[in-house]
Amino acid sequence: MDNINFVTERDPYEKEFHQAVAEVIESVRPVLEQNPLYRNERIMERVVEPERVILFRIPWVDDQKQVHVNRGFRIEMNSAIGPYKGGLRFHPSVNLSILKFLAFEQVFKNALTSLPMGGGKGGSDFDPKGKSDMEIMRFCQSFMSELFRHIGPNTDVPAGDIGVGGREIGYLFGMYKKLANEFTGVLTGKALNWGGSLIRPEATGYGSVYFAAEMLTTRNETLEGKRCLVSGSGNVSQYTMEKLLHLGATPISFSDSSGYIYDEVGIDREKLDHLMYLKNVQRGRVSEYVENYPEAVYVPVDQELDHNPMWKDHKGDCAFPSATQNEINEIDAQNLVTNGVYVVSEGANMPTNPEGVDIFLENKVLYGPGKAANAGGVSVSGLEMSQNSMRLNWPREEVDKRLKDIMKNIHKMCMETADQYGASGNYVVGANIAGFVKVVDAMIDQGVV
Ligand code: NDP
Repeated sequence: MDNINFVTERDPYEKEFHQAVAEVIESVRPVLEQNPLYRNERIMERVVEPERVILFRIPWVDDQKQVHVNRGFRIEMNSAIGPYKGGLRFHPSVNLSILKFLAFEQVFKNALTSLPMGGGKGGSDFDPKGKSDMEIMRFCQSFMSELFRHIGPNTDVPAGDIGVGGREIGYLFGMYKKLANEFTGVLTGKALNWGGSLIRPEATGYGSVYFAAEMLTTRNETLEGKRCLVSGSGNVSQYTMEKLLHLGATPISFSDSSGYIYDEVGIDREKLDHLMYLKNVQRGRVSEYVENYPEAVYVPVDQELDHNPMWKDHKGDCAFPSATQNEINEIDAQNLVTNGVYVVSEGANMPTNPEGVDIFLENKVLYGPGKAANAGGVSVSGLEMSQNSMRLNWPREEVDKRLKDIMKNIHKMCMETADQYGASGNYVVGANIAGFVKVVDAMIDQGVV
């Protein structure tokens, strides 16, 4: 049970899922060795198997009255410590492997927050790029017309992820409310005026920067004056840059799947506001940024290249990968180290491949894996659920303080767990073991179900 074969044999084509499971198995091996109960209970076999997988048809009609059919998924992975909780992703790459990897990661991430949340993930292979508002609305309504019967405020509480932001959560919530005939906190990431929490949009990016700041305190340093490479230009990336500015650091890059912007003099508040308008209102591409700021450079990126020039051609102190999975391979990781980067905090889920992670660890980079570093988003989702059930709204300062405290605690828990298992400074081992033990102990308490 402590090698990956039983997973690869059962689902041979799910490579992203294998990658996520292999990392956890590798980290928790000493725990399995010390606890024969885990082997007797077949805990590894149980934890990799989703409690339930829901797969459904999503028919919808575009503005030209053409019918399309997409595929919808919800992976209800583990409910040992609370209702299933995790985002919905709308992206053409979505498949069972990607969602199972995300749901698996989510289980341990949610455990690290210390809030009572199980793990899940869902979404569709629908591509929101270039769609009109009405097309997005019709798609979301069709998606929810099936999903609504599987979710609920005490069962499964989805949120946003790639391609699912405030607009989509609004359309999804409207349809849920109509079909279920109840107003409940069934989704998080809602708008403020109908049940959302302050700081939820900011939470993942802010949390990833708080985590980086905590890692730096172990070397008696702060983020002030640090030059930071950031990837992505969506929700996580934007609020990562905002918090970096608050803490006196300088973001110098961001990207989308077509290319990246490098702005040598730094992205200041005014430039970030412009980017937010460009991405969130105009729904444009990052290449358009140079029309307003010609001092910056736009570099198109060929996704087939064996490395990303953004990580190769620019010096920096910190990197915040905040786009997507496997965006940093071993060549990129080595390039980052060569360029002086010694802090990596993952806003995205599993953005670094296993060989890249080894390079960071060998070079003593302060490396915060996504499971720990991007847990701020789901933490504030958990706080949104609490506010919804109490029917009250906490002020901005209170939510931000709770977020900061949660990130501090996650950092401490990872560090102490790594120390305990002889892997000081290795946040991967710390996060995996701390999350794993909490979840599997709850599973054992609840019997073989
Ligand atoms: P968004 O949809 O808001 O933004 C995603 C961004 O990443 C877009 O700018 C997108 O560009 C870019 N991107 C996608 N693929 C690539 C690529 N191959 N190279 C460069 N850029 C790329 O998503 P989020 O910001 O919400 O999510 C980003 C990451 O953070 C994901 O891994 C997600 O799972 C993770 N995450 C998000 C949380 C949240 O609260 N939102 C919580 C925890 C983790 P393009 O427009 O070209 O596709």
